Amino acid sequence: MKFDYHMHFEYGSYDLEWVKGFFDSAQTRGIAEIGISEHSHGFVEFKDLYYDELILDDSIVGEYQKKWLTKNKFKYSLDDYFHFMNMLKEKGYPVKTGIEICNFKNQARVKEIIANYDFDYVIGSVHFLKGWGYDFADIKSEWNNHSLADIYTWYAEEIENLCNGALYDVLGHPFNIRLFKNIPDFDVTPVLERVAGALSKANMAIDINTGTLYRYPIAEISPYPDFLKIAKKYNLPIITSSDAHQPEDCGRYIDKAVEYAEAYGYDSVLTFSNRKAIARKFAE
Ligand SMILES: [Zn+2]
Ligand SMILES: [Zn+2]
Repeated sequence: MKFDYHMHFEYGSYDLEWVKGFFDSAQTRGIAEIGISEHSHGFVEFKDLYYDELILDDSIVGEYQKKWLTKNKFKYSLDDYFHFMNMLKEKGYPVKTGIEICNFKNQARVKEIIANYDFDYVIGSVHFLKGWGYDFADIKSEWNNHSLADIYTWYAEEIENLCNGALYDVLGHPFNIRLFKNIPDFDVTPVLERVAGALSKANMAIDINTGTLYRYPIAEISPYPDFLKIAKKYNLPIITSSDAHQPEDCGRYIDKAVEYAEAYGYDSVLTFSNRKAIARKFAE
């Protein structure tokens, strides 16, 4: 069976008309169940964390990020989200309620925010390195100001911080720091091993995410093969996902994600209900 467990409704609003398209695409592509993983920056509860932790000074990065925070962010409360998702479940849509939380330093605060909500699963994703949103195309010149050795070390440190938070079921799109094709010319195996070890200790799965295949210059599924190989060695479980932001992208390239995972020895994915993981075989 096929599952797509990382996607976003947030380019539209919480109304049935908008989200029906996601379910239609899922059905067309033979996806048994979808998981919605709204970004933490969609919810008012997380607003202070962004203002506390992002670079918001008068540098190029700071000026860009200040504007970014005012565009289509913090529109809903978590109550609004749960209300809508519970309505979908009651109507019989095959859907789970997840969230994709950015890598905040203040894990204690994240814990407080999500404590009162019955998420089916929680994704932690590194989107910021020392407060800089490395995946923003408009400020990608910032990549020139840092060595790739530093960037890989920071990325590993951010993942370790997520792992120490012990709040997450899945690491989103591992090693999407390759997205603008900044490829190290040195051996990163020690970083890959370090990250896999931390995830293993934290009992976290990894996200086989096709979003970087069809939305970014690198045009490859995340994680890239070198990390997937090590993830399998550590027996890290996986989810598969499209990272869809538009209805027509729901389920996109999940077939490829499954083939890719199978090639590295995987025969199943995790699904989640009430923070409990359930493994489902591809062949089921
Ligand atoms: Zn993400
Ligand atoms: Zn996402």
